[in-house]
Amino acid sequence: MGTLKNKISYVTGGARGIGKSVALGLARSGADVAVVDIDMKTAEGVVREIEALGMRSMAVSCDVTDPADVSAMVEKIVSAWGRLDIAFNNAGICINTPAEEMSFDQWKKVIDINLTGVFLCSQAAGKVMIGQKSGVIINTASMSGHIVNVPQPQCAYNASKAGVIQLTKSLAVEWAPYNVRVNSLSPGYIATEMTLKAPEEWKNRWVDLTPAGRMGTPEELVGAIVYLADDTSSYTTGMDLVVDGAFTCM
Ligand code: NAD
Repeated sequence: MGTLKNKISYVTGGARGIGKSVALGLARSGADVAVVDIDMKTAEGVVREIEALGMRSMAVSCDVTDPADVSAMVEKIVSAWGRLDIAFNNAGICINTPAEEMSFDQWKKVIDINLTGVFLCSQAAGKVMIGQKSGVIINTASMSGHIVNVPQPQCAYNASKAGVIQLTKSLAVEWAPYNVRVNSLSPGYIATEMTLKAPEEWKNRWVDLTPAGRMGTPEELVGAIVYLADDTSSYTTGMDLVVDGAFTCM
């Protein structure tokens, strides 16, 4: 494809799942990719796969809930590669607990990683991009920011993802004058470690409720991210792109 040639990017949660597939997809499209995660051993494996594609890569250890870690992560990438063009803020977790039983720590953990982490990464990347007067931020939201999933209880997750969608729109409005675009991606059910560990009865229900009749694969999100990252999408900002096998149409 080559549409992202010479672009400098990072992917949080890049060690596995959606982040890994997108990291490889960005590299195949010509971008250098920093793989950002708390799991360095797995991230190093992704770095080797990206380098085998002929692109530059580095693993950066970063807990997205820690402001100092996030600043250091962006600084490391910019000092090594000179700029930052594409930030994919994707790290996230889900905890399935009935609302009335959810502990404060469970609630806080989900909000800290999924929403505050996206804010901290967007802020650190945004500062660099505002200075450059160019850049693209893509945040992983979810169809759970639009609908309530069943049968599993996950109120903190759903609230965090609705927050990501509105945070994305807010940043898009604030930073449009600086030529910094901010969009979100809302996947439906995607087969990763996050979902595949669920009980069979949940997974069967999810597939039944999905018009496409199956879960998506992480690779099926790559096109959406490359589209949002590409310079030909220069008027696309403040958008939430839903990729869900038509789940939310019903
Ligand atoms: P996953 O569990 O396979 O991967 C998540 C990655 O994030 C892991 O590599 C993990 O180490 C990393 N991570 C977790 N906490 C972190 C932290 N504090 N700092 C840095 N990295 C951290 O999950 P996935 O399915 O690939 O999900 C990726 C994103 O997509 C998440 O935001 C998730 O909410 C979202 N999403 C997933 C689905 C789905 O069906 N899988 C659907 C919609 C949205």
